[in-house]
Amino acid sequence: MKPGVSILPRVKTSTRHVSSPSPATTGELLQLVREGRAMSRADLARATGLARSTISQRVEALIAHKLLTESGEGPSTGGRPPMRLAFNARGGVVLAADLGATHCRLAVTDLAGEVLAEQGAALAIARGPDEVLPWMLDRFDELLQGAGCTRAEVRGVGIGVPGPVEFEEGRAVSPPIMPGWDGIRIPERVHPRFPVPVLVDNDVNLMALGEYGAVWRDQVEDLLFVKVGTGIGCGIIAGGRVHRGAQGTAGDVGHIQVSDHSGEVCHCGNVGCVEALASGSALAGQLRALGLSAAHSRDVVELARAGQRDAVRLIRAAGRRLGEVLAGAVNLFNPAVIVIGGDMAHAHEHLFAGVLEVVHRRSTPLAARNLRLVASSLNDRAGIMGCALGVLDEVLAPSAIDASLAQYTESGK
Ligand SMILES: [Zn+2]
Repeated sequence: MKPGVSILPRVKTSTRHVSSPSPATTGELLQLVREGRAMSRADLARATGLARSTISQRVEALIAHKLLTESGEGPSTGGRPPMRLAFNARGGVVLAADLGATHCRLAVTDLAGEVLAEQGAALAIARGPDEVLPWMLDRFDELLQGAGCTRAEVRGVGIGVPGPVEFEEGRAVSPPIMPGWDGIRIPERVHPRFPVPVLVDNDVNLMALGEYGAVWRDQVEDLLFVKVGTGIGCGIIAGGRVHRGAQGTAGDVGHIQVSDHSGEVCHCGNVGCVEALASGSALAGQLRALGLSAAHSRDVVELARAGQRDAVRLIRAAGRRLGEVLAGAVNLFNPAVIVIGGDMAHAHEHLFAGVLEVVHRRSTPLAARNLRLVASSLNDRAGIMGCALGVLDEVLAPSAIDASLAQYTESGK
């Protein structure tokens, strides 16, 4: 893989296989090449201590499975010039679907996370799994066709949904804005058409992973991604990984109560939740109460961009309320970066003013000193990037590669 080609940087992993007393597996050899730490069979032999004949056998297997390419001349070491090994990013594709409450984005990416084809569409998740999932699978087929790929090339599928997910099983659990989805194991609906690993996660977790993988992975390990759209949610990257918590609901900051409320009732049943006061839909409601026309968060952003004073004033107030919640999060978690995404990030200059004012007043000085607050740089693409990166981490993990090669060997293919 040439540096700079991929949207997603190389996967950061442990160096366990180098110091481990057990010999490196085929999957671990692939990882050395993928990370740019080996560019020839000789490099692999040096890095692992394996015999050249063993290296050759495993490299041939990886080439046969389209995961490595070997071509041209590598850097000369004085003797016979070696062939250069490279990770074959075009040796397969992954499918990504970021399903939001009212709209979605779908993509086909290569094995380095580069988007080959993508599509955005209006889609109401509330139409239920029997309608939404077959629709999604049909769009996947169209995108594959558009990218000149076949179903057989698909190595994994990543899907983000706007609700809690039992991650191991890909099962939606009592999602409040997804009627009909409770208990649905989403991978079971995908497997008849795409019999490959299917990763399902909460959409904000995947946005956090996408933003982290594409922008921050080489710089920081602890990051919060706060989505402020119709609702308010937060994805947590702790130590370089998504932190989901004991029941998968970590980061549900929208239902933390703010002090500055007047008894506003949230859809969760409590009063004074930050989501009921500072989300895009809450702001739209506040503007409608003043006689302005605002159906949802995007209208609020439009008004603020046009300089409408009430919209600007209310977004700043929302920023202060969000700042109160985030100041608590900063004290608890000490992130290096807070990324704000979702529709309201498009009015970030007003929102951030309020957030920063309170975060710096209410967080401990040490936690807030080097804290960076930034708008999402992937915007609407953060979700599909997270889907792709999550799937690639899973299907290209050394253990997954070893298992998949073993399966081929056993079945004699
Ligand atoms: Zn609530």
